[in-house]
Amino acid sequence: MEKLSDQFMEEVVKACRPYTSQGEVVDHIPGLDQSHATDLGVTIITQKGEIYSAGNDDSGFSLQSISKVIILLMALEDFGKEVVFQKVGMEPTDDFFNSISNLEDYEGHRPFNPLINSGAIATASLVNGASVEERFERICSFLQTITNDDRVKFNKEVYRSEIKNGARNRSLAYFMESTGILSNKDAEEALELYYRVNSIDVNSLALAKLGCFLINHGRHFESGEQLIQSHHVRTVKAIMLTSGMYNESGTYAVEVGFPLKSGVSGGIVGAVPGRMGIGIIAPAINKKGNSVAGGQVLRTLSDKLKLNIFHD
Ligand code: GLN
Repeated sequence: MEKLSDQFMEEVVKACRPYTSQGEVVDHIPGLDQSHATDLGVTIITQKGEIYSAGNDDSGFSLQSISKVIILLMALEDFGKEVVFQKVGMEPTDDFFNSISNLEDYEGHRPFNPLINSGAIATASLVNGASVEERFERICSFLQTITNDDRVKFNKEVYRSEIKNGARNRSLAYFMESTGILSNKDAEEALELYYRVNSIDVNSLALAKLGCFLINHGRHFESGEQLIQSHHVRTVKAIMLTSGMYNESGTYAVEVGFPLKSGVSGGIVGAVPGRMGIGIIAPAINKKGNSVAGGQVLRTLSDKLKLNIFHD
């Protein structure tokens, strides 16, 4: 088994960077354009707190779908498993992340799981707070607390573009209103919260800290404070393993073998139980919405460091 070192990380980035040419950078996120097509940055924080980083690890990018993990953590903490999973299922889906078709016929019209768009919009309606501002503030400051990084902040331009390009998400929310999953007020407020949380800027170090928070069972990785109950964190990691990479999650469970969540800006968070948190940025994504070079980094790390949780 290889040993973690900065040199090892450099080698992984060098070997995986060519894979960026197999993906496309989305064209509607402000600050993200073709000039970032070959970016690849990786940060690892081990359970003991050692940090290893390489490549474009100082690149900032918006959370996008990785926000679904945070929304789910908060919803579980606020309402508990029973209430959350009345609104949303816990099954993987073979449909695209923003699919509407499964809402029509799946059991009780619930979204398949909380890590696809419909599911995250439904769970966003279950975050406590007197107003959307307050609910957003709770989520944002939670993320700032666990990352302890002042670069983690709301990006207004990205938020505006989420609204402008949000026709599909609005359709999902209103469809869920029509089937009784969301009330009208819930649909509007959940959408607003969803757009905002998608628009928080992060970096690969911040994602690695999020990964560490998950492997530390909901405790702050530096202070040790229990911020989310451990049984909720366990639920989130299980759903990340089965649904975190959308309709490629089965492939990732086999080829990588630990909980993951990706976003369309090319970020991926990984949580390797007992070992490390991983943060990756590589904006060139495939048709399913996953970073291509990021996926290759994960396969390489899993293989060389024996990270697969099913490993013998
Ligand atoms: N903001 C994007 C959306 O709502 C996030 C999707 C994603 O990262 N897969 O469609």
